[in-house]
Amino acid sequence: MGRNSAMESSDAKAAPVSTLRLPRAAYLALRVHAEETYPHECCGVLLGHSTPEGWRIEEAVRAANAHTDSAHNRYCIAPKELVKIEIGARRRGLQIAGFYHSHPDHGAQWSATDLAEAHWLGCSYVITAVAQGKAMETNSFLLSGTREECKRFVREVIRLDGETAGAE
Ligand SMILES: [Zn+2]
Repeated sequence: MGRNSAMESSDAKAAPVSTLRLPRAAYLALRVHAEETYPHECCGVLLGHSTPEGWRIEEAVRAANAHTDSAHNRYCIAPKELVKIEIGARRRGLQIAGFYHSHPDHGAQWSATDLAEAHWLGCSYVITAVAQGKAMETNSFLLSGTREECKRFVREVIRLDGETAGAE
């Protein structure tokens, strides 16, 4: 699909890959959230610290999906709720590191809508595929680029409490 024909291989080290470090509890929490809201999309905010390798997450905070008319394939966090989460994070010395949402009966791959509606450059966007109510693959994509016009998603590695998971 317009990509080069090279197969994705684990030893292709062309670009530096960032790493999203997730506490196992946060990883499980966002996957449980995805199952609970099925067949609708769940969404939430990841709070953490910036490191040279990528974000180190401390906590996944649930948010309501404000896209109530098409919650099966869209998500949106109300600005008011996001501001509240951000104030709470700052109080504890944490930053908004990224966002998570689910793809009910769809793969854990970002969509054109996901990219169009992602505006937090440098943040991680975590997507969990849910098949018939069961959480499947979870992937993370860094929103890369220095300006809105040249933003793009770059797949990153998810590390759970020091071990690699969910990425091959
Ligand atoms: Zn999506």
